[in-house]
Amino acid sequence: MYPSRFSYDAPTTVAEAIDLLRRAGGEAKVLAGGQSLVPMMKLRFASPEMLVDINNIPGLAYHSADPDGTYRIGALCRHEDLEKDAELVTQQPTIAAAAPVIADPIVRTRGTVVGSLCHADPQGDWASVMSALGGSIVAEGPSGRRSIQCAEFVNGPFQNLLEFDELAIEAFVPPPVGARSGGYLKLERRIGDFATVGVAVSVESSGDQVTRAGIGLTGVGPSTICAEAAAELLVGQDLNPETIHRAAELASEISQPRSDHRGSAAYKRHVVATFVTRILSSLELATREAA
Ligand SMILES: Cc1cc2nc3c(=O)[nH]c(=O)nc-3n(C[C@H](O)[C@H](O)[C@H](O)COP(=O)(O)OP(=O)(O)OC[C@H]3O[C@@H](n4cnc5c(N)ncnc54)[C@H](O)[C@@H]3O)c2cc1C
Repeated sequence: MYPSRFSYDAPTTVAEAIDLLRRAGGEAKVLAGGQSLVPMMKLRFASPEMLVDINNIPGLAYHSADPDGTYRIGALCRHEDLEKDAELVTQQPTIAAAAPVIADPIVRTRGTVVGSLCHADPQGDWASVMSALGGSIVAEGPSGRRSIQCAEFVNGPFQNLLEFDELAIEAFVPPPVGARSGGYLKLERRIGDFATVGVAVSVESSGDQVTRAGIGLTGVGPSTICAEAAAELLVGQDLNPETIHRAAELASEISQPRSDHRGSAAYKRHVVATFVTRILSSLELATREAA
């Protein structure tokens, strides 16, 4: 199917993009990598009157750490940019684990992390990862900039908290409290598929004590689930097998999977618990080795 008729503009500044969005009064869509928006338009699930293509705006393709450890991902940073950054494995292990399992290499070349967060697909991987990391989105509109926690940014399937005249400028992860470790595991029917179940874990620690933790679940609810009780249970602990087992149980209990052609709800809950256990157990080794 062809998309509905639309007009197209490719501004070269953020201010110009915001002005185009404002003047379109909610009838425009931002075009980043186009990997979700274009298929939606071809299926006529989305029929914007105007596309505001941000790809000609310089200075949005970064991913870098500030001196204080805040890690920033600009609106035009592609999945592939993160996949190819070898330093991320130690600096941002949860992000490094997720980047190579997003979609397929073609999608990863064009699709953006920020676009994925804005798209708010319940099966999107980045929302779980960024929620686990305590990340935020920076939005800019006619009245300036504001930050929105990723855990709150997605307020339903394919819905986010952006106003129609706001552009998401970047996503950022705050500096860790101590050393950072973590991982992302994804069950998919075949390579390149969306998650049947995905689990993101982030652990910050000092010595063998967890100082902060986050657990995000993909594909097992109407939108991303933050397993807060499971993560809080880890704080102040040393990741012993009993604590890991209880955290896995709590994460599984809060998941809300539906039975479908990918598996029964009970099976998916079991996978959540298994993934939480696997990731945390691998970190237990790391913290014990470091101690
Ligand atoms: C075959 C296929 C497989 C896929 N598999 C996966 C997968 O396994 N896991 C996964 O997480 N994703 C998957 N995706 C989605 C992919 O990751 C997309 O890249 C991503 O969801 C959207 O990023 P984008 O830059 O392409 O955004 P676009 O398609 O350009 O935009 C998506 C939405 O976000 C809005 N938007 C984008 N950027 C901004 C911004 N800066 N400010 C405000 N609004 C903005 C757009 O207006 C639109 O509504 C898959 C896609 C395809 C086609």
